[in-house]
Amino acid sequence: MKKEILDLNITKDFLAGIAGKHAPELAKIMVEKNKDLTDEEISKKLPLKITEIRTILNQLHYRGIACYNKAKTKRSGWYNYTWNIRTKRIAELLLEKKVEEQAKMEKKQEMEKNYEIFECANSCSQMVFEIAAEYQFKCPECGKPMNLANGRKISKASSQRIESIKREISVLKKAV
Ligand SMILES: [Zn+2]
Repeated sequence: MKKEILDLNITKDFLAGIAGKHAPELAKIMVEKNKDLTDEEISKKLPLKITEIRTILNQLHYRGIACYNKAKTKRSGWYNYTWNIRTKRIAELLLEKKVEEQAKMEKKQEMEKNYEIFECANSCSQMVFEIAAEYQFKCPECGKPMNLANGRKISKASSQRIESIKREISVLKKAV
């Protein structure tokens, strides 16, 4: 489960969002090595400068995803930093996010049951009657007209989204 979690798209998007587009690959390299690595060792596996690798590691460290150990080297007496990736922490953070998302979706679904929903012709926004009326039934995003949505279709889409979040949650729970 440790490695598998890094192959999930939600993990890739999450890490890229925290520390840039190279973060998912960096995390995967480090977890596959299965030992602590210095930034120089990591730089041999990625086409990035050491400063760029340090930036990624620091951003991951800030969220508790990357951890370092420091040891004095015998030869120079300088400190040597070795890094590792905590997949468990990634799973915890993602799980938090997904549980929140599920709650939000369930709230949205509840709302859809009780109110008529208006939807932009480009489907970039959805809102209840009162809000749509405030926008004079024109989408605040793109200006297209807002029409009464097919309630059954909307409710089905929400149910599917909730089911898929639940599946993601059960996968993540195994990695925590
Ligand atoms: Zn729109």
